[in-house]
Amino acid sequence: MIPYGRQSITDEDIAAIVDVLKSDFLTQGPAIPAFEKAVAARVEAKYSTAVNSATSALHLALSALDVGQGDMVWTSPNTFVASANCAIYCGANVDFVDIDSETFNMSPIALEKKLEAAAASNSLPKVIIPVHMCGQSPDMKEINTLAQRYDIKIVEDASHAIGAEFNNQPVGSCQFSDITVFSFHPVKIITTGEGGLATTNDPNLAQKMQRRRSHGITRDPALMENESHGPWYYEQIELGWNYRMTDIQAALGLSQLSRLDEFLYKRREIFSRYDAALSHLPLKRPKQNSQSAWHLYVIQLDNNIRHERRRVFEYLRDKGIGVQTHYIPVHLQPFYQKMGFSYGHCPIAENVYQRSISLPMHPYLPQADQDYVIQTLTSALHD
Ligand SMILES: *Cc1c(COP(=O)(O)O)cnc(C)c1O
Repeated sequence: MIPYGRQSITDEDIAAIVDVLKSDFLTQGPAIPAFEKAVAARVEAKYSTAVNSATSALHLALSALDVGQGDMVWTSPNTFVASANCAIYCGANVDFVDIDSETFNMSPIALEKKLEAAAASNSLPKVIIPVHMCGQSPDMKEINTLAQRYDIKIVEDASHAIGAEFNNQPVGSCQFSDITVFSFHPVKIITTGEGGLATTNDPNLAQKMQRRRSHGITRDPALMENESHGPWYYEQIELGWNYRMTDIQAALGLSQLSRLDEFLYKRREIFSRYDAALSHLPLKRPKQNSQSAWHLYVIQLDNNIRHERRRVFEYLRDKGIGVQTHYIPVHLQPFYQKMGFSYGHCPIAENVYQRSISLPMHPYLPQADQDYVIQTLTSALHD
């Protein structure tokens, strides 16, 4: 099966991991701050906190923004469940803002309307989590303008988008947000096996995230409530979790980061090849601007043919092509349906879901495999 996404691991990656294995620290060592510093420099953010997954980073981000019981968080329905679950972890409620049918990103128009209604009914969200679907930034400038109007914080879920830009600034620079989160799962742009990272320019938020990824413990005397008992002394001053990344992961991340531009270049090449080869087929090709990280290639099939997506999906899978669908709208998951969400809540995301297929897309997808995907999809649509 040709996978829809997969990591690229070189001998340099392996050597970097072996170096850590032979060193004094497998975790809580020097590779973590080295990786954090490199990511912060690359995305032009002041602070960065590496953790064991983007899911943990999203949880820490909301925790640092004091999201709790009774608060409301809004995100996109066309995302992985973690973008919404992080609010539930904090005891908050979730709602979904429908997407733009061209970009699959949170629609600023839908957001504006929903904010006006929420302001009238006194149910404004505390935080909005726009998602960088397929590696392309949402209109963060517009989303930020709307959020500021109502004093709402923003966490960008840029799990798909390290290396992308918006408004000629790197995604992660938090130009239009409080915190940005990246994922380093193997199907994402760079990998640490499992891993994630949160960037911010706010020292206060950074400090909270750093502390809460490790139990809420501090060794900083300035933050302690009691007098030190001696050199071994530390204090837990609040509740945190064990969301730490290991040095093994951080070393892999640092090595992968050095190839980020190569990964983006290769992804863009595949994107262009698909685009040219599929232009004559009865399907809608994805729209990505030149600043995307090219994470996914999502085609949309004709809306009017019943079961067409399922037929084509099964055809491709039967021929050994590991297509996927991004995403089942989160509000239609049983867990969220039990909270009262149902079909019709986000009609555009629901429609996009019914028509979408993600084709294999990863930097070293061999050209022969790309051609096979193109040929097979062509026969699927002409049969
Ligand atoms: C992958 C992904 C996550 C979760 O990332 P993990 O690192 O696996 O926790 C969250 N949001 C989006 C949009 C993702 O694609």
